[in-house]
Amino acid sequence: MRSDSSNSGPSGSAVRWPLLPVTSTRFDIIVIGAGIAGLTSALALRETGCSVAVLDRGEPGAEASWAGGGILCPLYAWRYPPAVLAVAVAGMRRYPALLASLDSGIDPERMVTGMRILDPIGADETRDSITATLSGVGIRHEWQPGTAGESLWLPEVANVRNPRLLDALLETARAQGVALFPQRAAQGVEIHSGRVDAVRTATGTLRAERVVVAAGAWSEAFIPGLRAGSLFPVRGQMLRVEPRAANGLDHIRMKDNVYLIPRVDGSVVVGSTVEHAGFDKTVDDDAQVGLHDAACRLWPALAEAAVTHRWAGLRPGSVDEHPVLGEHPEIDGLWVNTGGFRNGLAMAPATADLLAALMTGQPTALDPAPYRVERLLAS
Ligand SMILES: Cc1cc2nc3c(=O)[nH]c(=O)nc-3n(C[C@H](O)[C@H](O)[C@H](O)COP(=O)(O)OP(=O)(O)OC[C@H]3O[C@@H](n4cnc5c(N)ncnc54)[C@H](O)[C@@H]3O)c2cc1C
Repeated sequence: MRSDSSNSGPSGSAVRWPLLPVTSTRFDIIVIGAGIAGLTSALALRETGCSVAVLDRGEPGAEASWAGGGILCPLYAWRYPPAVLAVAVAGMRRYPALLASLDSGIDPERMVTGMRILDPIGADETRDSITATLSGVGIRHEWQPGTAGESLWLPEVANVRNPRLLDALLETARAQGVALFPQRAAQGVEIHSGRVDAVRTATGTLRAERVVVAAGAWSEAFIPGLRAGSLFPVRGQMLRVEPRAANGLDHIRMKDNVYLIPRVDGSVVVGSTVEHAGFDKTVDDDAQVGLHDAACRLWPALAEAAVTHRWAGLRPGSVDEHPVLGEHPEIDGLWVNTGGFRNGLAMAPATADLLAALMTGQPTALDPAPYRVERLLAS
């Protein structure tokens, strides 16, 4: 059994990136971070005609975006603030078009399986309040009776296989002329006279008109003036089981915050913990046993399945659980796209569109106000 957080991945990700020579040291836009937020931002910005470079301090797409479950809908969607739900739903609706636009030959294995939530009604919630919220954002749902009690069935929910999606985005970015710099940590953003000038790395300085901070849980270091504790990592542990025989699980199934995700190859991903443990990605046995036990209660056939992988990732959390997106109010050219927390994969196409629209002065499909950086700055 694998017990690590290496990027060989729950799906056996195929693409690895060579260290490119720097052929240009000046770009219109440098994106710091090659996770889902950085790569979708880079593609959306490249489409506007800008020259775009993406730096990652490690292998691109190997942090939270690799580690996540790939469910393209918020879990317990009705429990999120309206502005979080709005951007997540916009993202999930955009996925088919995003995937169709990728130019890579890599199939991200998007599967519309539906999601069944057992015991969905929490304290202070009613069937009517849940229905009203889901209907309000157009998430189709049905209340269904069953032997284990009434469940909520969301027939349109899909999942993707994260490492394959990240590889497809990377290939497409490369094909579209985005300059990718793996193993090139940004050490700081140089600011002169109140505007962005360059990004410093150990092997040289890359100049840019504008910089997008999309460094996930590590973003805080690049955003001057944040109140302490505004952005932080939230660890999530997961495991994958490979059933020896067909297990019959054909939908995402969830109860008490534990979910099962069937993959195209018959394996099942089980998630996830929500832990405030700093930047520690340790996989711990107690949490893993807890996840596995809950998974077997949810779908007893999984008790026969071998656990093949265990891993942890660091979600980019924000103090009010909203994404952080927009230009720094005191530094011209310093832009931010982070804070996806538990829904960063689902919302990425929508946050990238919003960022590109704001950066090019186009009308936005969503009101950007709730995501602005200024709400997190010390006054
Ligand atoms: C266990 C788990 C389950 C999840 N399940 C789901 C789900 O089912 N659906 C969903 O929508 N979301 C899910 N999420 C959340 C989602 O994965 C994240 O919100 C999303 O991946 C965040 O993407 P990101 O690009 O902001 O961050 P990341 O993917 O972490 O990318 C940030 C990148 O920045 C790079 N970086 C950091 N510092 C520097 C530096 N100094 N210089 C250059 N690069 C740097 C990192 O190396 C990294 O590649 C889950 C997360 C976890 C951990």
